[in-house]
Amino acid sequence: MTLKEAKLRAEEITVIIERWSYEYYVLDNPSVPDSEYDKLMNELIAIEKQYPELVTPLSPTQRVGGTVLDEFQKIRHKRMMLSLANAFNDDDLRDFDKKIRDVIGGDKVEYMCEMKIDGLAMSLDFVDGKINYAATRGDGTEGEDVTNNVLTIHSIPTRVNEHRPFEVRGEVYMPKKTLEMLNAEREEKGEPLLANARNAAAGSIRQLDSSIAAKRKLEAFWYYLVNADELGFKRHSDALDYIQSIGFRTNPERRICSGIEEVLAYVKEYTEKRQKLAYDIDGIVIKVNDITKYNILGYTAKTPKWAIAYKFPPEEVITKLEDIVFTVGRTGKITPNAVITPTKVAGSVISRATLHNEDFVKDKGLKIGDYIIIRKAGDVIPEVVRPLPERRTGNETDFVMIDKCPVCGALLVRKDAMHFCTSPTCPARQIEGIIHFASKNAMDIDTMGEKVSEEFFNAGFISNIPSIYDLYLKRDEILAREGWQEKSVDNLLDAIEKSKSNSVERLLFGLGIKEVGEKMAKTLSKLYLNLEKFFELSEEDLMKIPDVGPVVAHSIYEYFHNENNIAMINSLKEKGLNFNYLGKVTVDTNSPFYGKTCVLTGTLSKYGRKEATEILENLGAKCAGSVSAKTDYVIYGEEAGSKLDKAHALGIKTLNEEEFEELLQK
Ligand code: NAD
Repeated sequence: MTLKEAKLRAEEITVIIERWSYEYYVLDNPSVPDSEYDKLMNELIAIEKQYPELVTPLSPTQRVGGTVLDEFQKIRHKRMMLSLANAFNDDDLRDFDKKIRDVIGGDKVEYMCEMKIDGLAMSLDFVDGKINYAATRGDGTEGEDVTNNVLTIHSIPTRVNEHRPFEVRGEVYMPKKTLEMLNAEREEKGEPLLANARNAAAGSIRQLDSSIAAKRKLEAFWYYLVNADELGFKRHSDALDYIQSIGFRTNPERRICSGIEEVLAYVKEYTEKRQKLAYDIDGIVIKVNDITKYNILGYTAKTPKWAIAYKFPPEEVITKLEDIVFTVGRTGKITPNAVITPTKVAGSVISRATLHNEDFVKDKGLKIGDYIIIRKAGDVIPEVVRPLPERRTGNETDFVMIDKCPVCGALLVRKDAMHFCTSPTCPARQIEGIIHFASKNAMDIDTMGEKVSEEFFNAGFISNIPSIYDLYLKRDEILAREGWQEKSVDNLLDAIEKSKSNSVERLLFGLGIKEVGEKMAKTLSKLYLNLEKFFELSEEDLMKIPDVGPVVAHSIYEYFHNENNIAMINSLKEKGLNFNYLGKVTVDTNSPFYGKTCVLTGTLSKYGRKEATEILENLGAKCAGSVSAKTDYVIYGEEAGSKLDKAHALGIKTLNEEEFEELLQK
């Protein structure tokens, strides 16, 4: 880049950053994720590093972000309220450590690691043991007097047992739960939702009416005693312990780390723990613990050189929606998926994200070619938050829902918000069905995951679920394929063979019946004990089961009355799969036999003694060998002998076979 090009780009970036800063600091309503702001700021820093002549006092790299609103009284900070330099990875942190050691010497610097609370910086000034004012950071030199609003935070002491003048700084924030509650209320009232806890906290504090701040239930952590040196402290950690002892809320996660390796371990630990905290953090702040070194280390116009903010990989980033493609699930459900320019979100590279269904795409107003915000909240599944219509060029194309299956070409039908492929033999449905059938929570066929299932399907070794059990016939052909050895083939075939004796709930779940999840499969199996029983059940029968409503009942009924499915189940039976429930049967506490002691005598014509005993025990009864006063029922068949006489003599209830049957039905 030539100097001229660099100058133009720097000016361009400055204009954008100034707009974003205004939205963020003044309106408390950012239009882009923080990561996007940081990216642009880093680009500007790099340009200014290459061409230092471009650095001006007005450059965003030289100014503490933020402005002072005229509505508030202005307060001039006694010592400037600075921002922090950023680190984005281990190398940046090692660099920071090296620079510190270059100045103060030694192998291992003592650092204080703290949560970087994502809120609003605040200064509290105390004179003669009483609060003097609370001020925002503003532009670093001047802040806004927000004392009335800050005092609505009950944990803040207004009088303390320290009569020398002092100033503490910290962060006012909104706990995650409070934000959730507020947003739930706002949603109900149809009001716009608060974007995040940081902006919600900042917006609440900068209200002129302090009753609004009071309703927002804000909290605060205090992380810095500004004039610790004047008060005789040599270590930042001691100053923090002190302010805590006189009544300020400090963050309990802070830790003294000796040397940069301990710092890196702390950062790693909290990268994992951060989701569990009751408040949002956007990083870790690392500070030299020895206060006496602060002046030697010095300051830039914007940041102290003795501290740095490690920022977590962003959970929200901007990327481009390149295309929308459709996939077919095992139930035939068609899902539109966003194909995005690969981008790192929360530490992993994302190139696809589900768009759920047609309505989702339309409600978000997505166009192909749009810049979009992607989020990976709560770790796992990436989510498309919204498009950025302001970045459209006019070359974007509208989203059109397909009407034919992208794999087999069959017509789609719409049910509720979803579209389904109507062809039961659609290859995509078959393959997804096979993957699901073999998966861990279904038939648990080890090594037969997505890749192997697809490989065998494409090679023509398997075409549907029952054909998995013919794979042993293809042993030599599998062996001939790349990546397969005797041992791996044997392991696979053993796993397939072993799966035949699974208890039936795995099979029932593995069939992939719409609305029948793992839990439902178990409930149904425990109740009906055998897969073939489902052929006989009506929708009314099914609806008697708790948690089974008309939709679920209909889906199960339909499945077991579909010719293709019947043929498949018969085929699985021929191949020797177990159809019985093998787990413990739950006891029906409503049965008249539950908790009762029974004695069987004589020859029972319908059930053998053993079978009748089993039935009774499954109902929670105890079967005894002799009649006593503790016996509840004597069940008798042909040629009953002395036990029946004794029952009569003791006045115990007796049941013949017919009466026994009748009671069993209750
Ligand atoms: P910063 O938030 O990166 O770091 C400095 C601030 O950290 C301090 O002022 C303090 O408020 C806070 N902090 C939290 N815990 C702390 C602790 N334990 N010790 C010390 N300080 C602690 O810097 P900044 O100047 O406040 O804001 C810049 C950042 O704001 C950018 O990097 C960007 O992420 C975000 N921003 C976003 C937009 C946007 O449009 N999305 C616009 C402007 C700024």
